[in-house]
Amino acid sequence: MCSYIAEGRLFKKCRHFVRLQVVAMLDCGSRLCELSIQHPKSCKNRSCTNYLGKEIQKPIVTYDEFCWACQSTGHAVAA
Ligand SMILES: [Zn+2]
Ligand SMILES: [Zn+2]
Ligand SMILES: [Zn+2]
Repeated sequence: MCSYIAEGRLFKKCRHFVRLQVVAMLDCGSRLCELSIQHPKSCKNRSCTNYLGKEIQKPIVTYDEFCWACQSTGHAVAA
């Protein structure tokens, strides 16, 4: 199944990935996947998959700290 490739920020202390943008779609090349360009438009096979795989996360910036969500919920205070 296909997946999105997303760029974002990685916060090392909580290992959270904050997505900035989806940069590309990784095509799985399967003719049984409705999201693939290999899938025939005329296909009537109902067993074809049409859901996305796990997003591939590409950190373009890495911070040696907690993300804002963790900071605001107080998780960062204990460390
Ligand atoms: Zn696919
Ligand atoms: Zn199909
Ligand atoms: Zn976090």
